[in-house]
Amino acid sequence: MSLLGLESPDLIELLRLLDIEVLWHPSLSNGSPSEHQKLTERMLSGHQQLDILCIEGAIIRGPGGTGMYDTVRGKPKKDLVAALAKRARFVVAVGTCASFGGIGADGEVEATGTQYHKWDKGGFLGESFTTQGGLPVINLPGCPCHCDVVAGILTALISGYHVPLSQFNAPLEWYGMLVHQGCTRNEYHEYRVEEHDFGEVGCLFFHMGCHGPLAYGPCNKILWNQRSSKTRVGVPCFGCTRPDFPQSYPFYETQNIEGIPLQLPDGVDRAHYLAYKGMAAAAAPKRLRERKTKI
Ligand code: SF4
Repeated sequence: MSLLGLESPDLIELLRLLDIEVLWHPSLSNGSPSEHQKLTERMLSGHQQLDILCIEGAIIRGPGGTGMYDTVRGKPKKDLVAALAKRARFVVAVGTCASFGGIGADGEVEATGTQYHKWDKGGFLGESFTTQGGLPVINLPGCPCHCDVVAGILTALISGYHVPLSQFNAPLEWYGMLVHQGCTRNEYHEYRVEEHDFGEVGCLFFHMGCHGPLAYGPCNKILWNQRSSKTRVGVPCFGCTRPDFPQSYPFYETQNIEGIPLQLPDGVDRAHYLAYKGMAAAAAPKRLRERKTKI
């Protein structure tokens, strides 16, 4: 659904430019169930080439590993995914559920990601799986994933570009940076000028649960609707690209002990960070304390 919102180029133009034939898409395809069945058979038998398999949603394995909670024509959908993944030149997991399992990962439906289960490699297809194109499943986490990222990976794969991946098999081009990078509130974060409510001007890390310094993704590089992001309108990032999303604690509160956040920005040393933040807050310029610097 995110992809349908592609703007520049729009989706139709992108397909034309890349010469992509869409075999099936949940919102665009209008073939009958029997046509769908025949297409599936042609792909599985190798009579229909399948270059890129995009998977949306977690792989459902419940109950008891049967996969019968999520079926297609009476059979577990997971079996169809496994069979098509073997035929595809590339496999792309679109969104956090397809990448890491998402909301059902530890639940009764026994959901898992296509090649990761939360932080752990493996997931549904297993750690050693590679596609016919020689790559693991490419993860595009996000809830949802930005349409430009989907368009970008399609372009890269079809054009034969090398796609460097992160430790979670997400393209570094979009997932090699934190949401915090590019946030217009960075100077407020630097001097620990913090907010307690939505829509205000300062940083949202110490009280409002902002995961920007803990979540890798392009939200402040590629803007939504080409103009905005959560943090730009005063809503904390809740880390939807993280393998453990959705977290079991409230989205908009910073977990803390005596006002000290339990989770600090990725990679920082706790003692040094807190000493630095204490000094920075004391040194905060008046224009920031009075929220006069525009974001
Ligand atoms: S609002 Fe979040 S992303 Fe922005 S500077 Fe503060 S912690 Fe970083």
